[in-house]
Amino acid sequence: MQKDKLTMAIQKSGRLSDDSVQLLKKCGIRIQNGNNKLKALASGFPLELIFLRDDDIPQYVEDGVADAGILGLNEVLEKNKDVDLMQPLGFSRCRLSVAIPKTWDYPGKEILNGKRIATSYPVLLRKFLLENDINADIHPISGSVEVTPSLGLADAIFEIVSSGGTLLSNGLKEVETVLESEAVLIAGTSLPEEVSRLLQQLLFRIRSVQKAANNKYILLNAPESNMERIIALIPGIKSPTIMPLVEEGWYSLHSVISEDDFWGVIDKLKEAGAEGILVAPIEKMVT
Ligand code: ATP
Ligand code: ZN
Repeated sequence: MQKDKLTMAIQKSGRLSDDSVQLLKKCGIRIQNGNNKLKALASGFPLELIFLRDDDIPQYVEDGVADAGILGLNEVLEKNKDVDLMQPLGFSRCRLSVAIPKTWDYPGKEILNGKRIATSYPVLLRKFLLENDINADIHPISGSVEVTPSLGLADAIFEIVSSGGTLLSNGLKEVETVLESEAVLIAGTSLPEEVSRLLQQLLFRIRSVQKAANNKYILLNAPESNMERIIALIPGIKSPTIMPLVEEGWYSLHSVISEDDFWGVIDKLKEAGAEGILVAPIEKMVT
């Protein structure tokens, strides 16, 4: 039977859940019966959701039970299943780092030789140790890895860090960042043609939402004499829109500007005589 829906796995409850649902919502997709069941049908796109522990998502996608999934890159690389990385999603940013007691000196990675390192990422830790020619004991542990040094169970840890607050309160300091992670969309490596087409449509929506988030709509008033200079500063997607103001010699100019360029450009616009600058968010951007 031909499949007429995309089946996607997302985290049932945890740090990824809300942002995964929010991302779908921004793509015009709503979940009909909440995430308290194993499965839910979506509206606004032929999509069925499966709610799982994030650790289980790569296996479900490899086995074809789910066509796609959303989870942290850290977990995708740790599970090392046969899945395709389709798109970074920009949320749940964190890093996977080595941390040691803050009283230790840290001349370099070599001090990890002969130490016991607790982690819930044994695969990625083994890879890091091998690549750096370090001989250390790996202590796989699930949960509360940060407390193991103060309990005497380990000398150092290899764990997820976001603000570093948990490390500090456990008397630890971060000394090596091994992986920068964020949520990603993964997919099966041999999806049926129809499902693959649906996945591309969903990716198109996700990329339009991401582009919009990285751009702002900018409106300003500019004197005719400096028009060329101002247009060069905010060239927009194709070119800016210009409309005459009632006041002779003045124009209203509308364009799009990247979030990253924003503050640098604003000062130059003011220098060029721009006035009444308004900046507004963009919801979707299709180019
Ligand atoms: P599950 O019950 O689904 O197995 P979990 O306890 O493994 O959940 P969470 O703590 O919800 O996982 O974290 C899920 C993912 O969120 C992590 O794998 C990581 O990618 C990301 N993450 C973890 N900690 C943070 C953090 N402090 N800040 C931002 N993102 C984080
Ligand atoms: Zn998990």
